[in-house]
Amino acid sequence: MNDTGSTLTHLEGALSGERYPADELIGLDPTDGRPLLARYDIEKAARTLTAESLSGRRTGGLWRWAELLPVRNRNHIVYLGEGDMPLLAQPRLGEALGVPRLSTKAEGLNPTGSFKARGMAVAVSRALELGVTSFVAPSAGNAAGALAAYGAAAGAEVTVLTPVDATLANQQEVLAMGARLVLVRGLISDCGKISTALAPRIGAFDVSTLKEPYRVEGKKTMGFELAEQHGWKLPDVIVYPTGGGTGLVGMWKAFDELEALGLIGSERPRMVSVQSDGCAPIVRAFEAGERFAEPWQDAHTRASGIRVPSAVGDFLILDSLRESGGTALSVSEDSISEMQKFAGRMGAGYVSPESAAALAAVPELRNRSEIDPDEEIVVFDCGIGQKYPPPQDLPEPPVVDPADFDIDALAHNLRYSGMHIE
Ligand SMILES: *Cc1c(COP(=O)(O)O)cnc(C)c1O
Repeated sequence: MNDTGSTLTHLEGALSGERYPADELIGLDPTDGRPLLARYDIEKAARTLTAESLSGRRTGGLWRWAELLPVRNRNHIVYLGEGDMPLLAQPRLGEALGVPRLSTKAEGLNPTGSFKARGMAVAVSRALELGVTSFVAPSAGNAAGALAAYGAAAGAEVTVLTPVDATLANQQEVLAMGARLVLVRGLISDCGKISTALAPRIGAFDVSTLKEPYRVEGKKTMGFELAEQHGWKLPDVIVYPTGGGTGLVGMWKAFDELEALGLIGSERPRMVSVQSDGCAPIVRAFEAGERFAEPWQDAHTRASGIRVPSAVGDFLILDSLRESGGTALSVSEDSISEMQKFAGRMGAGYVSPESAAALAAVPELRNRSEIDPDEEIVVFDCGIGQKYPPPQDLPEPPVVDPADFDIDALAHNLRYSGMHIE
């Protein structure tokens, strides 16, 4: 029964262009092992998906965009509150970074504290619809937390593989939600190989980034929301911390769908991928003019969500950067730590290291004249900082014994330390 209004018609090989039936469980393109993308009957969707009808849909988070999502039957939707995240003006931070019209898309407010919830909500719901009851995925941490949450809500079995040094908070949330966790002495790419090999042996469906077609459908809703929140226009520049690139690829797809619906015109933002100096395969490929990225050796960065040495969707990321007139750049580990604290002091909240990396790229983009001071810049704040080890050099707080302390000394200490206001 199709009671959601989904207009999903077929799957298409992102590289091969081959067409496959939509209602079969397929992971990668059988022709070339590359990603598959979902295609819709946009003309049909346009009859009900209008600016007006959307403004009347007040609940449902990202599921408000049902016509352009793959789930056909409402009973299969696993909803935990994902989507409809605010776009927050950041005038103080923007002023300090030389771009007063800076906003952040506050994705850390999603269930499980990151935008991984969007992708997993849609991938898990659609897989349930196609009969899946067990899931497996590699993850740097946040995807594991999200899959554990949606799997549990669906009553499905979940197995996740993360690097042994994955953030402790992510490991704990996965275990607390009853998922099975395997720690791998290696990187996410090693976890990915084990996940693919394990899937058929434990009867699980592999929901690795872009190795099935629907996580990207969840993430593309960020592009829909951005247009809607912006009065059906798009900002000049989107800055996105890039690991597997699902969000970037998803938004790029979303803009084409919105244009086909007649909701936006042909203008596009310049898309900017940000990575860390310790793992920058997309930046290297962009600069070398390559369409595919070589795997990065000895990848390291505290921003674990972007510690992705090789991405299956590399060509999709690179194509969108180039078509949009955007760019790719990497930032130092020190600048990530510094920006976590600076953004916090400027009122942007306690952002994840990945979000800090994206923000840290903004002054560099200004230096390179890649952005003008009067342009509208949206930086993706992808997750909360609370799940990660803290940034370097946080001040040491004073400890006070209420039965015996010197009020004058404490007042003096507070006056002359800690709070520095720029
Ligand atoms: C996964 C993740 C990213 C990278 O997102 P992709 O769409 O996979 O490139 C960035 N930040 C955080 C917090 C993440 O969890």
